[in-house]
Amino acid sequence: MTDLSADDHDQPHDLVGIGIGPFNLSLAALADGVHGGLAATFFDQRPAFHWHPGLLLDGTTLQVPFLADLVTLVDPSSPWSFLSYLRARDRLYPFYLAERFHIQRAEYDAYCRWVSEQLPGLHFGHQVDAVRWNAERAVFEVDFTQLDGDGEVEALGRAYTRNVALGVGTEPYVPEPLKLLADTPAVPVIHSADYLAHRERILAAEHITVVGSGQSGAEVFLDLLRARPAGAEKLHWLARTEAFAPMEYSKLGLEQFTPDYTSYFHALPEHVRDELVPRQWQLHKGIDAGTIAAIHDELYSRTLRGGWPDAVLTPGVLVRTAGRVGATRLELHLEHAQQSGRSRLTTDAVVLATGYRERPLGPLLAGLEPYLRLDNSQRPRVDARYRLMLDPSVTGSVYVQNAERHTHGVGTPDLGLAAWRSATILNSLTGTEPYPLPRRTAFTSFGLDGQERHRQVPAPRGLVPLSEMR
Ligand SMILES: Cc1cc2nc3c(=O)[nH]c(=O)nc-3n(C[C@H](O)[C@H](O)[C@H](O)COP(=O)(O)OP(=O)(O)OC[C@H]3O[C@@H](n4cnc5c(N)ncnc54)[C@H](O)[C@@H]3O)c2cc1C
Repeated sequence: MTDLSADDHDQPHDLVGIGIGPFNLSLAALADGVHGGLAATFFDQRPAFHWHPGLLLDGTTLQVPFLADLVTLVDPSSPWSFLSYLRARDRLYPFYLAERFHIQRAEYDAYCRWVSEQLPGLHFGHQVDAVRWNAERAVFEVDFTQLDGDGEVEALGRAYTRNVALGVGTEPYVPEPLKLLADTPAVPVIHSADYLAHRERILAAEHITVVGSGQSGAEVFLDLLRARPAGAEKLHWLARTEAFAPMEYSKLGLEQFTPDYTSYFHALPEHVRDELVPRQWQLHKGIDAGTIAAIHDELYSRTLRGGWPDAVLTPGVLVRTAGRVGATRLELHLEHAQQSGRSRLTTDAVVLATGYRERPLGPLLAGLEPYLRLDNSQRPRVDARYRLMLDPSVTGSVYVQNAERHTHGVGTPDLGLAAWRSATILNSLTGTEPYPLPRRTAFTSFGLDGQERHRQVPAPRGLVPLSEMR
C-alpha cells in the first residue's frame, strides 16, 4: 500500500481501477503479472478489503470451487492464487487432507485480503467521484476523495489514465413497498447484507420474519432456526417465488457460466437477451441444495420429541406493504398470488433478504455522457471485450466488471468468470496477449453457430492498443 503524492497522479496511468472487490482485485493481480509492467492503480472507498462481512456466517461456503480464485483459471502459476495463499500460511497440507472443493466464505475473504495487502498500487479509503475524458491530453481524469479512518474527507485528488476499469459491484436492494419498513427505528428491519452486525438484536425479538428465497434468505433463516429454542422458534420465512427452489447446479447447466456461453449470449439480439435473463433465475437466484437439506434436517430434528417447530415457511407470498402496531411491532400486509388471498402478519423484527442490484454507474460517468453509446433501454452498450461503447473520438477505454448482465448474461457476477474477464480486459488493453485464452470452454455448443464461435474473435476496429501508444 503506497501513499500517493500529486506528482504520481499527473503521470497518466495505463489503468485506473475504481472499486476493489474480487473482480478488480483479480484485474490488479493479473495486471501485476504483465511482463514489462503496467502502470496500474486501484481505488476503493472502504478502509480495507472485506468481502460481504454481514454474511460471513460460520460454515457458509463459496458456491464455486476454489479454482475460481482471482487468477488460477487463466494463470495457475500466479503468485496470487489461492494455493499460493495457503502455502504462505503453511496450510497446504491441512487443505489437501480437508478435501474441500468449496472453501468457506471467511477463508475466501481472508485470501482476498492477503492479496490486497501485498499488491502494489491499491489505495483503500479513496472514493472516486467522477470520470471525465480530457480530449486535449487524450486521457481520462479520475477525481477522488481521500477519506480518513472514520470516513471523513482528508484530501481531494485527481488521477490521469489511458484506461479505466469500473468494478463498483452491487448494492443491497430493497423493493419500494418495503422501504417504508426501514423507517421504524424501534423495530429491527435490516437487509441481509448487514445480518451479522444486527444478529443479537434480531434474535432478541419475540417473532422474526425473513423475506426472500435466495441463498442469503436461506442462510439467515437456518442460522435463526438453529439459535431458537425448539418449539419456541417464532419464525416466518416468506418468499415471492412459487417455491424454495434449489439453485441449478448440474454440470451441463453450469456451462452457462463459461466464456463460451457468455460470448454466445453477447451475440444475441438485445430483446432476446432481455427475455432470457429473468427466465434463468434458477441459475443465480435459487438456494444451494446443501443449505436446503440443512434446513430440512434442522426442522426434522425439532420434531423428534413430538410436535412441529413454530416456523412457518410460505412461498408465493408478496409483502405488499407494512404498518406499525404500537411502538415496537410491525404488521406485514401479505398477498398470496395463487390464492388471490390477503392476510396480515404481526412481527417484531424483519430480515430483508431481497437481493442486490448493480451499483448505478450514472453518477460516476456523468462526465462521459456525451460519448456514451446507449441501448434501447438507455443502458450503456458494452462490447465483447467488456468495454463501454464510446464515441470514436475517445481513444482510451472504459472497461466494466459486474455491471454488464444485460450484455453478457448471468455469468456477470460469477466468481468463476473473474480471471477470464480480467485477462480479456488486459489482452485488449495491452494489444498483446499476456494471457492467452482457450478457444473452447464448454462441451455444449451454444447456438447453431456454436462451432463457428469456437474460432478466434477478430481484433477490435480502430482502437489503439497500449503497445502502439507508447
Ligand atoms: C453474500 C454473497 C455471497 C456471494 N457468494 C458468491 C459465490 O459463492 N460465488 C460467486 O460466484 N458469486 C458470489 N457472489 C456474487 C459476487 O461474486 C459478489 O457479489 C462479488 O463480491 C462481486 O464482486 P465485485 O468486485 O463486482 O463487487 P463488490 O464486492 O461489491 O465490490 C465493489 C467495491 O467497489 C467499491 N466502490 C463502489 N463505488 C466506489 C467508488 N465510487 N469509489 C471507490 N470505491 C467504490 C465498494 O466499496 C466495494 O468495495 C456473492 C454475493 C454475495 C452478496
